[in-house]
Amino acid sequence: MLANDFPDDLKPFLIPEVGGDMGYDCLACEARYAPDQLLYTCPACGGLLMLTDKKIDRLKEKPGSFWRRLFDHRLMLNHGALKGVFTFHEFLAPNIPLSDVIYLGEGHSPVVKAPSSLANQVGANFFVKMEGQNPSASFKDRGMAAAMSMLNHLVRIKNLDQVIAVCASTGDTSASAALYASSLGKSVKSVVLLPKGKVTPQQLSQPLGAGATVFELPGVFDDSMKVVERLSEKYHVALLNSKNPWRVLGQESYAYEVAQQFDYALLDKVLIVPVGNAGNITAILSGLLKFHKALVIDGLPKIVAVQSKRANPVFRYYRQPMGTRSYSPVVVKPSVAQAAMIGDPVSFPRLAVLSKLYEQEAGISSFYVVEVDETAIMEGMLQANSHGLTVCTQGGECVAGLKAALGEGLITPSETAILDSTAHALKFVDFQNAYFEGRLAQEYGVATKPELANKPRELELVDTPIPEPGQTMTGAQRETFVSTATRAIAEALSLSEKV
Ligand SMILES: *Cc1c(COP(=O)(O)O)cnc(C)c1O
Ligand SMILES: [Zn+2]
Repeated sequence: MLANDFPDDLKPFLIPEVGGDMGYDCLACEARYAPDQLLYTCPACGGLLMLTDKKIDRLKEKPGSFWRRLFDHRLMLNHGALKGVFTFHEFLAPNIPLSDVIYLGEGHSPVVKAPSSLANQVGANFFVKMEGQNPSASFKDRGMAAAMSMLNHLVRIKNLDQVIAVCASTGDTSASAALYASSLGKSVKSVVLLPKGKVTPQQLSQPLGAGATVFELPGVFDDSMKVVERLSEKYHVALLNSKNPWRVLGQESYAYEVAQQFDYALLDKVLIVPVGNAGNITAILSGLLKFHKALVIDGLPKIVAVQSKRANPVFRYYRQPMGTRSYSPVVVKPSVAQAAMIGDPVSFPRLAVLSKLYEQEAGISSFYVVEVDETAIMEGMLQANSHGLTVCTQGGECVAGLKAALGEGLITPSETAILDSTAHALKFVDFQNAYFEGRLAQEYGVATKPELANKPRELELVDTPIPEPGQTMTGAQRETFVSTATRAIAEALSLSEKV
C-alpha cells in the first residue's frame, strides 16, 4: 500500500525516526553506559547488561489503540527495514536508524491452530507459532537481525573494518550469525564455535554454507561458551551470543507478534516457551511488559517455561519457595531438545530480574517452569508432526510442557495455549529417524513405541525385470515392471479394483 493511502492520522508515524534514550544497564552495580559501543559485561564490575530505554514513558503518551492501529497498518507498508522485527521499532531498538537495518525475511512467523484431533489427544486447544519459518529456520534470526543491524550501524558510524563476530552455539545461533554476517560482505567476518557432535548435520551445514569459519570443540555447549567469553574478554571481537543484549531486544519481537496475531488480547492466553540459555524467555517477558505498560495489550498472559529434566537449572531454581531460591548450574545429560541443552544459562540473571517484575505486574501465578522427560518430548514432536505441523524437538518439548502444565493443574483446558516451535522440524530430523529406528534408547533413554514409528517399505517383486539402482528401463521390460509393482502396492494396501 502506498504511504499516501494510509489514514491521515497515521501518516506522520508510519516511518519511525531515531528516538528514545537507549543505554546499557548493569544488573549488578546499576552503572549505565552509552549505546554506541559493543558491551557484553559491565566494564566496572563484570555484571550482565540489559538494554533499556530511559524515555520509554514517551510511548505511553499515545493511547494503546494508536499503537495497535499503527502496527497493523505498518504490515501493509512496503518498506524493507520495517518488514521484519523492526515493525516494532519504537519498542525494540529506537536508536538504530532504518537505513542501517538488515532484513533477511525474519519475523512475522505464522501462528497455526492445532487441529482438533491433536488438541483432543493433548487435552486442550492450542496454537503453534512456527519459528522454523525464519530465514535460517529458527527464532534466533530475530535477535540476530537486531544485533547485526546494530553492528552494521557501528561499522558505519565508527568506520570499522574487518570486524570478527564470534559465537558459541547449540547449532542455531551459529546458523543465524553466519547468515546475517554473510549479508554484510567483507566488513564482518563470522566465526562460530560448536560442541563437536552436539549440533545436527543440518545445523553444521548452515554456517559452512554461509562461509563462516567453523571450529568444532570437544565438550558440550557450556564449554564452547566459556571459550567465547574468554575470547571476547581478551581480544577485539564482537560477541553474538545472547550475552549480547541487542539479541534480546530483537527477540522481544516474538511477544509483539503474538500480541498482534491475537488482536492484542493476551489476558486469557498461556505462552509456552522452551528454555536453554534463557535469552528467549527473557526477551518475551521484557516485550510483554513493554506492551503492557503502554496499554497495547489487554493484560499479561500466563507464561509456562519448559526444560528437559536433563538440562533443568531454571526449573530447579523456580521450584524452590520464593525468598529461599538459589541458583546453581547443572551438568547436562544428552537431550533430544539439543538446542536447549544448557546447564549454565548465560541470561539467567536477566530472567531472575524480569520474572520478578512480571510476577509483580501479572500476579503470583503468572510464571511457571515445568520439566519434561525425553520420551515426552519425542512423543510430543511426533504427535504434532503427524497432525499437520512441522515442529522441532524443542517444539515437542512445548507440547510435552503443555501436557505437564495441564497435569499439574497450572493451566486449565479452557485456556488457550500458544506454543513456541523454535526451529524447523527438518533441522532435527535425525532425532525423528533415530526414534523410528529404535536408536534413542541408550544415550537418551527413549524407547520406541511401534505405533509411532514409521519406515519406508520394500516391495517383494518376483517374475519381473528390475531396474538397476538409479537407472530406468524401456519398452516391454518397463511395462512388466510397472504392472508388477502396481499389483504389489495394491495388494499391500488392500485396494479394490475399479469396475
Ligand atoms: C536457542 C534455542 C532454544 C533455546 O533458547 P534460549 O534463548 O537459549 O533459551 C530453543 N530452541 C531452539 C531451536 C534454539 O535454537
Ligand atoms: Zn556493573
